[in-house]
Amino acid sequence: MIIFNNVTKIYEDNKARALEDVSFHVEKGEFVFLVGHSGAGKSSIIRMLLCEETPTKGKVYVNGHDIGALSHKEIPFLRREIGVVFQDFRLLPSRTVYENVAFAMRIVGASTKQMRRRIPEVLNMVGLSRKAKAYPSQLSGGEQQRVSMARALANNPSILIADEPTGNLDSEKAAEIMAILEDINNRGTTILMATHAEKLVNEMHKRVITLDRGHLISDQKEGVYTIGI
Ligand code: ADP
Repeated sequence: MIIFNNVTKIYEDNKARALEDVSFHVEKGEFVFLVGHSGAGKSSIIRMLLCEETPTKGKVYVNGHDIGALSHKEIPFLRREIGVVFQDFRLLPSRTVYENVAFAMRIVGASTKQMRRRIPEVLNMVGLSRKAKAYPSQLSGGEQQRVSMARALANNPSILIADEPTGNLDSEKAAEIMAILEDINNRGTTILMATHAEKLVNEMHKRVITLDRGHLISDQKEGVYTIGI
Protein backbone atom coordinates (compact mmCIF):
# COMPACT_ATOMS: atom_id res chain seq x y z
CA MET A 1 0.00 0.00 0.00
CA ILE A 2 2.67 2.54 1.13
CA ILE A 3 6.34 1.62 0.89
CA PHE A 4 9.31 3.84 1.73
CA ASN A 5 12.55 2.06 0.86
CA ASN A 6 15.75 3.81 2.01
CA VAL A 7 14.37 7.23 1.17
CA THR A 8 16.61 10.28 1.39
CA LYS A 9 15.19 13.70 0.54
CA ILE A 10 17.47 16.66 -0.03
CA TYR A 11 15.88 19.91 -1.18
CA GLU A 12 17.95 21.29 -4.02
CA ASP A 13 17.50 25.02 -3.31
CA ASN A 14 18.84 25.11 0.27
CA LYS A 15 20.41 21.60 0.43
CA ALA A 16 18.21 20.83 3.47
CA ARG A 17 18.38 17.12 4.31
CA ALA A 18 14.75 16.47 5.17
CA LEU A 19 14.87 12.65 5.27
CA GLU A 20 17.84 10.29 5.74
CA ASP A 21 17.54 6.68 4.64
CA VAL A 22 13.94 6.28 5.85
CA SER A 23 12.24 2.89 5.41
CA PHE A 24 8.78 1.73 6.48
CA HIS A 25 5.82 -0.16 5.03
CA VAL A 26 2.14 0.52 5.70
CA GLU A 27 -0.32 -2.26 4.90
CA LYS A 28 -3.87 -1.80 3.71
CA GLY A 29 -6.20 -0.92 6.58
CA GLU A 30 -3.51 0.23 9.02
CA PHE A 31 -3.78 3.35 11.20
CA VAL A 32 -0.40 5.04 11.59
CA PHE A 33 0.65 8.14 13.51
CA LEU A 34 3.63 10.07 12.20
CA VAL A 35 5.20 12.11 14.98
CA GLY A 36 8.25 14.30 15.37
CA HIS A 37 9.26 17.88 16.17
CA SER A 38 8.81 20.61 13.61
CA GLY A 39 11.38 20.06 10.86
CA ALA A 40 11.58 16.29 11.50
CA GLY A 41 10.43 15.44 7.96
CA LYS A 42 6.71 14.66 8.38
CA SER A 43 5.52 17.04 5.65
CA SER A 44 8.19 15.78 3.29
CA ILE A 45 6.77 12.27 3.66
CA ILE A 46 3.24 13.55 3.11
CA ARG A 47 4.23 15.57 0.04
CA MET A 48 5.82 12.48 -1.51
CA LEU A 49 2.66 10.47 -0.92
CA LEU A 50 0.69 13.25 -2.62
CA CYS A 51 3.16 13.13 -5.56
CA GLU A 52 4.23 16.73 -4.88
CA GLU A 53 7.86 15.75 -4.25
CA THR A 54 10.05 12.84 -5.32
CA PRO A 55 12.81 11.12 -3.33
CA THR A 56 16.42 12.15 -3.94
CA LYS A 57 17.50 8.56 -3.22
CA GLY A 58 15.48 5.41 -2.58
CA LYS A 59 11.94 4.54 -3.63
CA VAL A 60 8.42 5.45 -2.59
CA TYR A 61 5.57 3.23 -3.75
CA VAL A 62 1.89 4.03 -3.33
CA ASN A 63 -0.51 1.25 -4.26
CA GLY A 64 2.26 -0.34 -6.29
CA HIS A 65 3.22 2.82 -8.20
CA ASP A 66 6.76 4.17 -7.97
CA ILE A 67 6.08 7.85 -7.33
CA GLY A 68 9.50 8.86 -8.61
CA ALA A 69 8.71 7.36 -12.00
CA LEU A 70 5.16 8.62 -12.64
CA SER A 71 4.35 10.59 -15.75
CA HIS A 72 2.38 13.85 -15.43
CA LYS A 73 -0.63 12.05 -16.88
CA GLU A 74 -0.54 9.33 -14.23
CA ILE A 75 -0.35 11.63 -11.19
CA PRO A 76 -4.05 12.69 -11.11
CA PHE A 77 -5.15 9.05 -11.21
CA LEU A 78 -2.95 8.10 -8.29
CA ARG A 79 -4.01 11.21 -6.37
CA ARG A 80 -7.62 10.03 -6.52
CA GLU A 81 -6.61 7.10 -4.36
CA ILE A 82 -5.61 9.49 -1.59
CA GLY A 83 -7.84 11.78 0.45
CA VAL A 84 -6.23 14.53 2.47
CA VAL A 85 -7.25 16.61 5.47
CA PHE A 86 -5.26 19.65 6.62
CA GLN A 87 -5.00 21.50 9.92
CA ASP A 88 -6.58 24.62 8.42
CA PHE A 89 -9.56 22.85 6.75
CA ARG A 90 -9.14 24.60 3.34
CA LEU A 91 -12.86 24.83 2.55
CA LEU A 92 -14.35 27.09 -0.12
CA PRO A 93 -15.94 29.87 1.97
CA SER A 94 -18.55 30.91 -0.61
CA ARG A 95 -19.86 27.35 -1.10
CA THR A 96 -22.19 25.36 1.12
CA VAL A 97 -21.14 22.16 2.86
CA TYR A 98 -22.82 20.12 0.11
CA GLU A 99 -21.11 22.14 -2.62
CA ASN A 100 -17.70 21.82 -0.97
CA VAL A 101 -17.97 18.04 -1.15
CA ALA A 102 -19.51 18.15 -4.64
CA PHE A 103 -16.56 20.23 -5.85
CA ALA A 104 -14.12 17.41 -5.02
CA MET A 105 -16.29 14.94 -6.92
CA ARG A 106 -16.81 17.17 -9.95
CA ILE A 107 -13.02 17.53 -10.37
CA VAL A 108 -12.73 13.79 -10.95
CA GLY A 109 -15.68 13.74 -13.37
CA ALA A 110 -18.39 12.26 -11.12
CA SER A 111 -21.95 12.39 -12.47
CA THR A 112 -24.78 14.29 -10.76
CA LYS A 113 -26.36 10.94 -9.93
CA GLN A 114 -23.16 9.71 -8.25
CA MET A 115 -22.93 12.97 -6.28
CA ARG A 116 -26.56 12.77 -5.12
CA ARG A 117 -25.88 9.31 -3.78
CA ARG A 118 -22.42 9.76 -2.30
CA ILE A 119 -22.60 13.22 -0.69
CA PRO A 120 -25.40 12.36 1.81
CA GLU A 121 -23.48 9.17 2.60
CA VAL A 122 -20.22 10.95 3.50
CA LEU A 123 -22.00 13.76 5.36
CA ASN A 124 -23.72 11.10 7.41
CA MET A 125 -20.38 9.43 8.16
CA VAL A 126 -19.07 12.67 9.69
CA GLY A 127 -22.36 13.50 11.45
CA LEU A 128 -23.23 16.53 9.32
CA SER A 129 -26.37 15.42 7.47
CA ARG A 130 -28.29 18.39 8.86
CA LYS A 131 -25.69 20.96 7.83
CA ALA A 132 -25.59 20.34 4.08
CA LYS A 133 -26.90 23.83 3.29
CA ALA A 134 -24.73 25.70 5.79
CA TYR A 135 -21.71 27.79 4.79
CA PRO A 136 -18.32 27.16 6.46
CA SER A 137 -18.52 30.46 8.40
CA GLN A 138 -21.71 29.19 10.05
CA LEU A 139 -19.93 26.13 11.44
CA SER A 140 -17.65 25.50 14.42
CA GLY A 141 -14.01 24.54 13.80
CA GLY A 142 -14.79 20.90 14.57
CA GLU A 143 -17.67 20.92 12.09
CA GLN A 144 -15.50 22.55 9.43
CA GLN A 145 -12.90 19.82 9.91
CA ARG A 146 -15.65 17.23 9.54
CA VAL A 147 -16.67 18.82 6.21
CA SER A 148 -13.08 18.56 5.05
CA MET A 149 -13.10 14.87 6.07
CA ALA A 150 -16.31 14.30 4.10
CA ARG A 151 -14.70 15.98 1.11
CA ALA A 152 -11.56 13.84 1.48
CA LEU A 153 -13.70 10.69 1.53
CA ALA A 154 -16.04 11.64 -1.31
CA ASN A 155 -14.12 9.78 -3.98
CA ASN A 156 -13.69 6.71 -1.80
CA PRO A 157 -9.89 6.85 -1.46
CA SER A 158 -7.95 3.82 -0.24
CA ILE A 159 -5.66 6.06 1.85
CA LEU A 160 -6.56 9.07 4.01
CA ILE A 161 -3.75 11.41 5.01
CA ALA A 162 -4.44 13.75 7.90
CA ASP A 163 -1.88 16.50 8.48
CA GLU A 164 -2.35 17.83 12.04
CA PRO A 165 -6.15 17.50 11.69
CA THR A 166 -6.79 18.43 15.33
CA GLY A 167 -4.21 21.24 15.52
CA ASN A 168 -6.82 24.02 15.56
CA LEU A 169 -9.38 22.29 17.78
CA ASP A 170 -10.06 22.01 21.51
CA SER A 171 -9.71 18.59 23.13
CA GLU A 172 -13.41 17.73 22.94
CA LYS A 173 -13.63 18.50 19.21
CA ALA A 174 -10.33 16.73 18.63
CA ALA A 175 -11.71 13.59 20.27
CA GLU A 176 -14.73 13.72 17.92
CA ILE A 177 -12.40 13.92 14.93
CA MET A 178 -10.40 10.94 16.21
CA ALA A 179 -13.58 8.88 16.68
CA ILE A 180 -14.56 9.60 13.07
CA LEU A 181 -11.06 8.72 11.84
CA GLU A 182 -11.25 5.45 13.72
CA ASP A 183 -14.64 4.72 12.17
CA ILE A 184 -13.27 5.47 8.70
CA ASN A 185 -10.32 3.17 9.43
CA ASN A 186 -12.66 0.41 10.62
CA ARG A 187 -14.39 0.59 7.24
CA GLY A 188 -11.07 -0.33 5.60
CA THR A 189 -9.40 2.99 4.73
CA THR A 190 -5.69 3.19 5.53
CA ILE A 191 -4.92 6.26 7.67
CA LEU A 192 -1.67 8.15 8.08
CA MET A 193 -1.89 11.02 10.54
CA ALA A 194 0.89 13.51 11.27
CA THR A 195 0.42 15.08 14.67
CA HIS A 196 1.85 16.73 17.78
CA ALA A 197 -1.17 15.73 19.87
CA GLU A 198 0.60 13.58 22.44
CA LYS A 199 -2.50 12.77 24.48
CA LEU A 200 -4.49 11.58 21.46
CA VAL A 201 -1.64 9.39 20.22
CA ASN A 202 -1.30 7.78 23.65
CA GLU A 203 -5.03 7.17 23.95
CA MET A 204 -5.42 5.50 20.55
CA HIS A 205 -2.88 2.63 20.89
CA LYS A 206 -2.08 2.64 17.18
CA ARG A 207 1.19 2.24 15.35
CA VAL A 208 3.51 5.24 15.91
CA ILE A 209 6.38 6.15 13.59
CA THR A 210 8.72 8.74 15.12
CA LEU A 211 11.03 10.96 13.12
CA ASP A 212 13.89 13.05 14.46
CA ARG A 213 15.71 15.46 12.13
CA GLY A 214 15.03 13.28 9.12
CA HIS A 215 15.78 9.94 10.76
CA LEU A 216 13.15 7.33 11.56
CA ILE A 217 14.02 6.69 15.21
CA SER A 218 11.20 4.34 16.18
CA ASP A 219 8.31 2.41 14.68
CA GLN A 220 6.10 0.83 17.33
CA LYS A 221 2.89 -1.18 17.16
CA GLU A 222 0.40 0.15 19.71
CA GLY A 223 2.97 2.82 20.35
CA VAL A 224 3.22 5.96 22.42
CA TYR A 225 4.38 9.49 21.83
CA THR A 226 8.01 9.75 22.92
CA ILE A 227 9.63 12.64 21.06
CA GLY A 228 9.81 14.85 24.15
CA ILE A 229 12.57 12.74 25.63
P1 ADP B 1 7.95 18.67 9.45
O1 ADP B 1 6.73 18.51 8.61
O2 ADP B 1 8.20 17.51 10.37
O3 ADP B 1 7.97 19.98 10.18
P2 ADP B 1 9.43 19.10 6.94
O4 ADP B 1 9.35 17.89 6.09
O5 ADP B 1 8.53 20.25 6.61
O6 ADP B 1 9.24 18.66 8.48
O7 ADP B 1 10.92 19.66 6.93
C1 ADP B 1 12.10 18.85 7.06
C2 ADP B 1 13.31 19.71 6.70
O8 ADP B 1 13.28 20.02 5.31
C3 ADP B 1 13.39 21.04 7.42
O9 ADP B 1 14.75 21.31 7.67
C4 ADP B 1 12.82 22.03 6.42
O10 ADP B 1 13.37 23.29 6.60
C5 ADP B 1 13.25 21.42 5.09
N1 ADP B 1 12.26 21.70 4.03
C6 ADP B 1 10.97 21.31 4.02
N2 ADP B 1 10.35 21.68 2.88
C7 ADP B 1 11.28 22.32 2.14
C8 ADP B 1 11.27 22.94 0.85
N3 ADP B 1 10.17 22.96 0.10
N4 ADP B 1 12.42 23.51 0.41
C9 ADP B 1 13.52 23.47 1.17
N5 ADP B 1 13.61 22.91 2.39
C10 ADP B 1 12.51 22.34 2.89
